[in-house]
Amino acid sequence: MKYVYQNCPFYRQKFKECNVDVDSIKTTEDITKLPLTTKQDLRNAYPLKMCCVGNEKIVRIQMSGGTTGQPVIIPYTRNDVEQWKEMMLRAFYIANVTSKDVIQITPAFGLWNGGFGFHFAADELNAFVIPIGSGNTRDQIKFMKDFNTTVLCATASYPIRIAEVAGEMGIDVKDLALEKMLLGAEPWSDEMRKQIESLFDVTAFDIPGLTEMGGVGTVGFECSHRQGLHMWEDNYIVEIVNEDGEVLGEGEEGEIVYTSLNREAMPLIRYRSGEVSAIVSNEQCECGIEHLTIKRIRGRTDDMVIYKGR
Ligand SMILES: [Zn+2]
Repeated sequence: MKYVYQNCPFYRQKFKECNVDVDSIKTTEDITKLPLTTKQDLRNAYPLKMCCVGNEKIVRIQMSGGTTGQPVIIPYTRNDVEQWKEMMLRAFYIANVTSKDVIQITPAFGLWNGGFGFHFAADELNAFVIPIGSGNTRDQIKFMKDFNTTVLCATASYPIRIAEVAGEMGIDVKDLALEKMLLGAEPWSDEMRKQIESLFDVTAFDIPGLTEMGGVGTVGFECSHRQGLHMWEDNYIVEIVNEDGEVLGEGEEGEIVYTSLNREAMPLIRYRSGEVSAIVSNEQCECGIEHLTIKRIRGRTDDMVIYKGR
């Protein structure tokens, strides 16, 4: 809190407006005194008004997948990129993806965070990486077949499309070497997971990711017990709030609010993610992980508003 107060004029101003003495924030409970940060705040901050470091410390930027208005730019220091890689390595470890795997990365490489997020960790693993990026599904299938891809990283709906095109090509996707899929970037149901797993004969993992918190894989992952998403509390404080921003208890559905604890370039305090979920448990999972577990992300609050408006 002191770091953002000292380095980010936006937060200094915001804390003053809310009469928050930054020295009074001592525990994770205390952060409820702090105001929420919104996507609009980030849009208003374009290009780098909320950045806590100078250009000499920035090593890259990514862009949040906003559809209209000002883009939201997320800057990274070297340490931020390292954190991203570490969290993705955690996901690979839980999914038992190793250096023996052939990892095909199908999200785009560019300002969208998907491609690079998977790549940094897959490269560090010394796995056989196919950084094909997004594009021609026939080529994707050809590469999966010719290089015996074992791990597919993709948006959640992409495997269904792959199965369709493979069918047109006369290829049974069960004959591919695929064993695991890490899927995210959009909400997908348990039914869809069953469909994908039985179509391809694979295990499909749900990987959350929010550019504002650093990109794919940074905030959490699910283990094989499938109780929900284990959220990395050593990196983020996770709260669930209602429409008015009031903190909800275990089991109550609301919007996920993230506070990044160790990001350097643009740490965010109590960021309204727009993602809908609920706390499942604070207890240790059978897998041994002791972090907070939340439900798989069910949708976005902006989608819900549209739904309610119908
Ligand atoms: Zn677990």
